[in-house]
Amino acid sequence: MDKKKIAFFDAKDYDRQSFINSNRDEEFDITYLDTRLTVDTCKLAEGCDAVCVFVNDDVNREVIDRLYAMGVKLIALRCAGYNNVDIEYAYGKIHIVRVPAYSPYAVAEHAMALLLTSIRRIHKAYIRTKDFNFSLNGLTGFDLHGKTVGVIGTGKIGRIFIDICRGFGMKVIAYDKFPAKDSGIDYVSLDELWEKSDIISLHCPLTDENRHMINADSMDKMKKGVVIINTSRGALIDSEALVEGIKARKIGAACLDVYEEESNVFFHDYSNHIVNDDVLARLISMPNVIVTSHQAFLTNEALTNIADTTLGNVREFFEKDTCPNEVCYKCANIGSCQQTHEKKCF
Ligand code: NAD
Repeated sequence: MDKKKIAFFDAKDYDRQSFINSNRDEEFDITYLDTRLTVDTCKLAEGCDAVCVFVNDDVNREVIDRLYAMGVKLIALRCAGYNNVDIEYAYGKIHIVRVPAYSPYAVAEHAMALLLTSIRRIHKAYIRTKDFNFSLNGLTGFDLHGKTVGVIGTGKIGRIFIDICRGFGMKVIAYDKFPAKDSGIDYVSLDELWEKSDIISLHCPLTDENRHMINADSMDKMKKGVVIINTSRGALIDSEALVEGIKARKIGAACLDVYEEESNVFFHDYSNHIVNDDVLARLISMPNVIVTSHQAFLTNEALTNIADTTLGNVREFFEKDTCPNEVCYKCANIGSCQQTHEKKCF
């Protein structure tokens, strides 16, 4: 195989390190680009066989058309979710591959880290003791033991999160559009989950159907003081409604690793700037909201798996006819893709 050229968009130091390590034999010619993939930047992929993108690169119709016209054959997502790619439009033009799992533990453990930080006020205590303030006033938390957690999405991450919660002695109820048979998981309707949960954690993909599933109506049905954790995708929550829910003291706390408008902000240092997003600024200003910037995946184990799987996907795509980690809009509509990953989807 001739050396395949990859334009690697939105490259961060930690990406470079793991991909340079995984590509140590220089099998691929990778150009690392700081910029995100947009209509304006896609020309940087000129002469490349593949582009490698992450969660906030916008792979819309125009980008797909331009990449296709340049002869790019493959879009290699170095993440699991693909809601930022118009997969239906890409079908028949450019193949899409992804990393379906790199460390579900990383994300599930981060969700629990956020929950514990929030309810035990660790974020407040850390700042206090750094300033030699050893007062405990305002740091009262609550036990997780005996509380009910509602888990939405019981795939790889959701199930690990369920196991962690059970380890804490919590009662687990769950909702999944495709409940797992014989899993021992107590599935309930969404309404029942809203009503019974002390803590709600989102672990499902973002689709057109579940965009803003946490909104003013669903929040109305929740317990007063409920804690919401989102490590999935920002647009599962209507952020403006969340601000109102917190202001009304209905929502007890929010732990957010993702945010619906994150692509303009996350992964960048704006510490010397005025952030224009008023909703995000309001959320961050609240003492019972913790925001991390799409960090849940960020462990050494996950980065190594992401790099190895992504380069493996590119190798397999160009060397063989098989493409086990391909996504197409037919695959996404469970089971309707004829190729079932034994061949390329088109
Ligand atoms: P998965 O595919 O293993 O599981 C997803 C589950 O959601 C499946 O059981 C599926 O049946 C269910 N589901 C699908 N549509 C649903 C709906 N409308 N309502 C309820 N459930 C639905 O995926 P996973 O590996 O567990 O990842 C879950 C999500 O976590 C991903 O979609 C991604 O958005 C997010 N994620 C975030 C990070 C991060 O760093 N924050 C990293 C990886 C993944």
